[in-house]
Amino acid sequence: MDQLGIGIVGCAGRMGRMVTRVVEATDGCRLAGGTECEGSAAIGRDLGELAGIGAKGLTVGDDPAALFAAADAVIDFTTPAALLVHAGLAGETRTIYVVGTTGLTAEHEAALAAAAAKTAVMQAANMSLGVNLLLALVEQVSGALGPDYDIEILEMHHRHKVDAPSGTALALGRAAAAGRGVALETVAQKVRDGVTGPRRAGDIGFATLRGGDVAGEHSVIFAGEGERLELTHKAGTREIFARGAVRAALWCRGKPAGRYAMRDVLGLAG
Ligand code: NAD
Repeated sequence: MDQLGIGIVGCAGRMGRMVTRVVEATDGCRLAGGTECEGSAAIGRDLGELAGIGAKGLTVGDDPAALFAAADAVIDFTTPAALLVHAGLAGETRTIYVVGTTGLTAEHEAALAAAAAKTAVMQAANMSLGVNLLLALVEQVSGALGPDYDIEILEMHHRHKVDAPSGTALALGRAAAAGRGVALETVAQKVRDGVTGPRRAGDIGFATLRGGDVAGEHSVIFAGEGERLELTHKAGTREIFARGAVRAALWCRGKPAGRYAMRDVLGLAG
């Protein structure tokens, strides 16, 4: 089979450069090119040099339409605003679209759904194997322990992260809520400040820490009377997310149009 040509939007970003390195090191795929936003200093540079792996003869561009037309799959770790443009192009060109960008709202979900009507779209707030296993465990534990155990979700990320709570923390909250048969929106307590009064029964609380170069740490705490259960995942390197994204792109090859999740890619569905 031909190698899968993978394009990388946001190729100068922390994740974009990591994805470039992983694509280059992975069997079954090849670099198809990369884009950055207009005005970026990366435009015109060599994609491989930007990622620290030597020249690859591919110049970073600012035309996502050309990249989607040239690639078999595109991996997106950019911004929610950029995702709206990229999702439209994925649908138009029927290019496999793998999305790791977080901070998505209903508008972005609708754009992904429209693209998924025409091509394979895999979106995950966290592409690591460990976190996807944790999501399944959290739903199970939340259902087993019941409402006497208060659920709190603690996350820490590097100082550059712009959205909070993290997409992964929110996904863990949705898993915990699903275990109790409730919607997260009705029980989420994302900020506490000042005289908040006692904890409301059934709430799922979030706490956000930011600093240094932390790649991503998440704990789900089940606090009961006399005991506490804590489930924790720590990412040591962003490479785990890049590997997950490249694995997802390869998995999507030949799949019908539709919306897929990391649990499908990892065989954890059902
Ligand atoms: P970053 O700021 O280092 O990189 C984002 C890049 O996108 C930048 O280089 C920026 O110039 C570029 N960009 C912005 N608009 C663009 C456009 N219109 N076209 C092309 N490029 C554009 O950020 P990062 O740390 O790499 O994270 C990127 C996103 O990925 C964030 O939303 C983050 O939360 C998410 N993320 C997800 C996972 C996961 O497993 N799903 C893991 C890590 C990060």
